[in-house]
Amino acid sequence: MSETIKERSLNFVEEIIEADLKSGKHNGRLLTRFPPEPNGYLHIGHAKSICLNFGLAQKYGGGTNLRFDDTNPVTEDTEYVDSIKNDLRWLGFNWTNEMYASDYFDQLFKYAKKLITKGLAYVDDSSAEEMATLKGTPNAPGVESPFRNRTVEENLNLFDGMANGDFAEGSRVLRAKIDMTSSNMLMRDPIIYRIKFAEHHRTGDKWCIYPMYDFAHGQSDSIEGITHSICTLEFVSHRELYDWFLEKLEIFPSKQYEFARLNLTYTVMSKRKLLQLVNEGHVTAWDDPRMPTISGMRRRGYTAKSIVDFCDRIGIQKRDNLIDVSLLEFFVREDLNKTSTRVMAVFDPLKVVITNLPDGVVEPCSLENNPEDPESGHRLVNFTKEIYIERGDFMKEPPAKYFRLSPGKMVRLKGAYIIQCDEVIENEGGSIKELRCSYIPSSKSGADESGIKVKGVIQWVSASEGLKSEIRIYDRLFKVEDPSSEEGDFKEYINENSLEIITAYVEPVLKDAKPGDRYQFMRNGYFVPDTDFSPENLVFNKTVGLKEGFKVG
Ligand code: ATP
Ligand code: MG
Repeated sequence: MSETIKERSLNFVEEIIEADLKSGKHNGRLLTRFPPEPNGYLHIGHAKSICLNFGLAQKYGGGTNLRFDDTNPVTEDTEYVDSIKNDLRWLGFNWTNEMYASDYFDQLFKYAKKLITKGLAYVDDSSAEEMATLKGTPNAPGVESPFRNRTVEENLNLFDGMANGDFAEGSRVLRAKIDMTSSNMLMRDPIIYRIKFAEHHRTGDKWCIYPMYDFAHGQSDSIEGITHSICTLEFVSHRELYDWFLEKLEIFPSKQYEFARLNLTYTVMSKRKLLQLVNEGHVTAWDDPRMPTISGMRRRGYTAKSIVDFCDRIGIQKRDNLIDVSLLEFFVREDLNKTSTRVMAVFDPLKVVITNLPDGVVEPCSLENNPEDPESGHRLVNFTKEIYIERGDFMKEPPAKYFRLSPGKMVRLKGAYIIQCDEVIENEGGSIKELRCSYIPSSKSGADESGIKVKGVIQWVSASEGLKSEIRIYDRLFKVEDPSSEEGDFKEYINENSLEIITAYVEPVLKDAKPGDRYQFMRNGYFVPDTDFSPENLVFNKTVGLKEGFKVG
């Protein structure tokens, strides 16, 4: 089969770019940007936008600016700036320039004055309620403000006064003078500057007026010479305004293109909602492994490759849709299967005493680290007199064709010996306390001369050498596929049982686990050391199960 990326048909943005490059527009130059507002951590939806913007630049030999869209002083913070840069690097992307919309405040102020001078902007003293009333509705035209026909000079003076802090917050705004009867409500004299006596994370208290999104975004694109400004569908109606400002200001004509946001099942994807989950304690932090944030997924054990592969696979659409999270998990599993070290961990231990192995004797057994990767080598695991097996791997009264352990029967211990169950010791209530077994010394894996054939292989951990470890097992954060579209508050649909903590016995080698190491706990799934992990306090997160199949409950 020769299915290569080359053969995938072009998506609509690629078609536009190829046409632009062919026609020699911008002299063949391509510059995209990724413009996060630093008011939260990046989530998987952002990853989609990142892969698209950086991916296009890589494919067509262009560049991508990282621009912090930090024009709203109230919600932004440098903590978020740092986390965004960290997540981008982890995903494997390098930006051409690191920019801040707030660096353009002086330029934007000049642009506003230019519009005033051209008779295309005015200071409005109306209250917010008055402005809302005069704006009209989609079916009824708006009415012009009584302040709309101030002279250029008066407007310049008042706007300077706003910038000087002469007026109270909410008392005046600067508006573009466009068309109060436009069918596009955003063209009905949109507000472009408002007074806000707020400290900005970068400009401090230098400004007490701040530009609105629509007066900052397109201009920032233009200042940087962005050729293709790609954003999500909710900005379709803003495009007319975007073009209007660049045209009236007579500056570089960046162009905006829109694609559908990524939505995933069983989660929410807006920073506002994610912040609520954090602030109200439904999760522990932005990087809680149940969060759809990049940092949460990293902590959960998802690889950057699996996230990028997922984004490539889903492509881009022009209509909103909901993608099944199991598709993302498919890519995670696919990558982890190739790269993770196999180890044994017993989640529900049943003690087994090997009666014919003398006290204190250890039998080193060699186990393969990763059958998918011949380079990964082997490790030695000591077989000892007392071991734990999974309680579910023993049955006192087994059905026919049960190949694991049962009274009088034999099974192979993974990488070690065949054992036979000779005696079952029960507690008073009849529950099983431990098993007495004998091992077949000539049956060692890799050097088996016993001639005995057994069908079952089970895993085990030495009771004396295995380590107790905390295992965090996650389920979906929400009980319904699309919590945002349900009636009432989205938090009513939180799955209260999304975290289960158990104690397990794991192979001693896991004491040396490092952040970023990835393991397959055989038969149990893929696991990573949590950020809470230390050699004295072993904590692992379950990344994903070995096979698809999740139950919410
Ligand atoms: P949120 O709704 O989560 O607060 P946002 O759009 O306000 O998201 P920004 O920081 O402004 O977040 O987003 C930066 C870029 O990422 C924008 O270009 C935005 O369109 C894009 N983006 C955000 N969410 C998604 C998503 N779910 N799917 C695709 N792109 C997204
Ligand atoms: Mg935003």
